[in-house]
Amino acid sequence: MRARAAVDFRRAACIVPGQRNAPVLQNPEPQPKQAPATALRRALNVLGDPWTMLILKEAFNGTRRFSHFQRELNIPRQTLSLRLTHLCREAMMYRRPVSPGHATLEYVPTAKAFDLQEAMYSVWLWHQANPGDADVLPFDIVHTTCGKVLSASFRCTHCKGLITSDSVQVVPADPPQFDLEPRGRLSRRNDAAITASGDGEGLVAASLVGDIACNEILWRLFQGPSHIQALAQDLALGVSVVRGRLEKLRQLGLVQEEQQGRRLVYATLPRAEPFYPLLVSISTWGDRWCNAGQPPPEMLVHDCGHLVRGRFACNHCGGWVGRDNVTIRPRAPHG
Ligand SMILES: [Zn+2]
Ligand SMILES: [Zn+2]
Repeated sequence: MRARAAVDFRRAACIVPGQRNAPVLQNPEPQPKQAPATALRRALNVLGDPWTMLILKEAFNGTRRFSHFQRELNIPRQTLSLRLTHLCREAMMYRRPVSPGHATLEYVPTAKAFDLQEAMYSVWLWHQANPGDADVLPFDIVHTTCGKVLSASFRCTHCKGLITSDSVQVVPADPPQFDLEPRGRLSRRNDAAITASGDGEGLVAASLVGDIACNEILWRLFQGPSHIQALAQDLALGVSVVRGRLEKLRQLGLVQEEQQGRRLVYATLPRAEPFYPLLVSISTWGDRWCNAGQPPPEMLVHDCGHLVRGRFACNHCGGWVGRDNVTIRPRAPHG
């Protein structure tokens, strides 16, 4: 069973990021709007925008030029410009001339961006399993090792066992770490995130990634059922924010609510499970790239006892899925 970590704020030391030498340990009195750091939140501060994942997806498909991103994504010019600047600042992409001496620039993903591939596969596999009205993914990913259209499971690289919400334990750092990032932009982003890139099932995964609070709540619920007040306290979110996101997750069929005594208790539904690899991938990516020299805020431990490093393995041939053995093929038109 997975233990839900109760956070003892009185005991908690506060590690101030940005200090080069010994971290400054302040004593307790937690700020009201502070939640223990998680790798997921650190990563989502980089990725947590509905457009960012779509831009990255496009870049992974080979799109490089500003005008091509604009055309493929039908994204407002100003929005695209801001997101690309953000991605460059976060060392996810860099600009270079399309050819030597050429004035036109192209945007190229970095190793840090390509390291997100497991997360991108989970988005794609989700869409494949839950096709919506909008043809958001008019291509197939083909596993070249076996030549079949990709169907894959998220597995532990140590034991090859499945990585599921039931087979992973989240062990928070002791004492917990705190990031002093502002929470301000959360309140502004509400249901806009789900509609920003179109409505309906089609973009569920991409738009969920674009909503930090939704992801954090889902991540918490994967660790065990909880209620609104506990989620609000653990995540340092307003009760109304939590309530709104739970409603959204319920409407998406990912979370159920159940009356237990005087409380409404929320738990993930089986339909949410395909998001687990996505959140694990983003979280472990955050550990690799977003800790800025600080220790990891938590450890994800697989049933086999090893720290979680998940990869997708092909369901047809059993081989690992990687950038060097997949290819993208336009899908034959329907009908
Ligand atoms: Zn394992
Ligand atoms: Zn295969």
